[in-house]
Amino acid sequence: MSRLLVIGCGGVAQVAIQKCAQNSMVFTEMCLASRTVSKCDALKEKLEKQGCPVKITTATVNADDTQDLIKLIKEYQPDAVLNVALPYQDLTIMDACLECKVDYIDTANYEPEDTDEPVWRAAYEKRCKEKGFTAYFDYSYQWAYMDKFKEAGITGLLGTGFDPGVTSVFVAYAKKHYFDEIHTVDILDCNGGDHGYAFATNFNPEINLREVSANGSYWEDGHWIETKPMEIKREYNFDQVGMKDMYLLHHEEIEALGRNFPEIKRIRFFMTFGQSYLDHMRCLEDVGMLSTTPIKFEGKDIVPIQFLKALLPDPASLGPRTVGKTNIGCIFRGIKDGKEKTLYIYNVCDHQECYKELGSQAISYTTGVPAMIGTALVISGKWKKPGVYTTDEFDPDPYMEMLNEFGLPWVVDENPVMVD
Ligand code: NDP
Repeated sequence: MSRLLVIGCGGVAQVAIQKCAQNSMVFTEMCLASRTVSKCDALKEKLEKQGCPVKITTATVNADDTQDLIKLIKEYQPDAVLNVALPYQDLTIMDACLECKVDYIDTANYEPEDTDEPVWRAAYEKRCKEKGFTAYFDYSYQWAYMDKFKEAGITGLLGTGFDPGVTSVFVAYAKKHYFDEIHTVDILDCNGGDHGYAFATNFNPEINLREVSANGSYWEDGHWIETKPMEIKREYNFDQVGMKDMYLLHHEEIEALGRNFPEIKRIRFFMTFGQSYLDHMRCLEDVGMLSTTPIKFEGKDIVPIQFLKALLPDPASLGPRTVGKTNIGCIFRGIKDGKEKTLYIYNVCDHQECYKELGSQAISYTTGVPAMIGTALVISGKWKKPGVYTTDEFDPDPYMEMLNEFGLPWVVDENPVMVD
């Protein structure tokens, strides 16, 4: 018996909710709450028509407002809150969970909506100098809840999507079963899908474009090395997808893995992009459309990247038209029984299969399934540990079993081609 409150009802949330409905042994009641409640109502209706055994209710909530969240949590009395809204809401939702002593789960690291806010900006600039990476997000804001969550006896599970999320579980699993020491990790995120648009993003455009237009960076010998955006390029031949160009990006799991596995000498993250995507992004950036700083337009303040989001296709609508596969995983080099060893753990996911099953494309699917798995493990007590943790800090085995069971089976290749 459990009650789950889900915040957000976008592309990722819709997969996570439908997957919770498939796991009714763990999730018996769910409240779907978001800014636009009509999306929650439509999903509730779809699930009820399918005969879903989970008791579903819906609610309107403004997740930027901690008091509004506290009111809803007190009314609904959930066992856990799954945050699949935006990273901007991480801290308000964590505050509400703390006040109500309820477990908290999310899929993405906190970042502020307004990166010009003076207090945040001053702390950001200090962090850039001290730590050596300039991404808008970092774990410090959420890790700062460690003692408060411990005192309240609640668990905070951070970043249980695919990357971060599954990729960090792959690291914990490789360490537990295949290596005495891991020396390098390359995380490869390949989307071989084609949606037929000249330009669209596969998840929230604002968050996605902020991430990929930023400087790259990687972790080496205990510190960050920062690169210009898209400065480091490699080619890789992905199983079931083929040869793709991929570029080194900063990515949030590197920060947690660097801290939690100090033995790892180098951690890099690569994502594939086609030339058309890069050309469009460069042009939009050059004309100022990726800016997060408001400008005055006909007497009104508008944020260019938010205006662009309104023009682009809704990622949740790409499902019917996206064909092809994703291939996401980690390549390791390390030592086992005194000998050098390499290993590749990855998942291949087919966009059209996801659409047939849940009506979504594979990016939302590969994020929403692990969001359900992390939540199920916290609620069932297997990953219950007061404090705030990333997915690499728990026993990986039950998570890996559930990936196989709930649609993201993985492959272990003990003789992979390495990335130079
Ligand atoms: P969408 O933009 O599709 O959905 C966001 C949802 O949150 C919408 O339903 C939106 O409501 C709701 N929302 C936004 N602001 C508020 C608010 N103030 N109060 C209440 N609800 C709000 O995003 P995605 O589904 O693509 O992404 C969801 C999360 O998943 C993001 O944090 C993203 O970074 C993360 N992600 C993680 C990945 C991983 O592998 N770890 C990969 C991909 C995404 P409305 O409908 O009104 O707009």
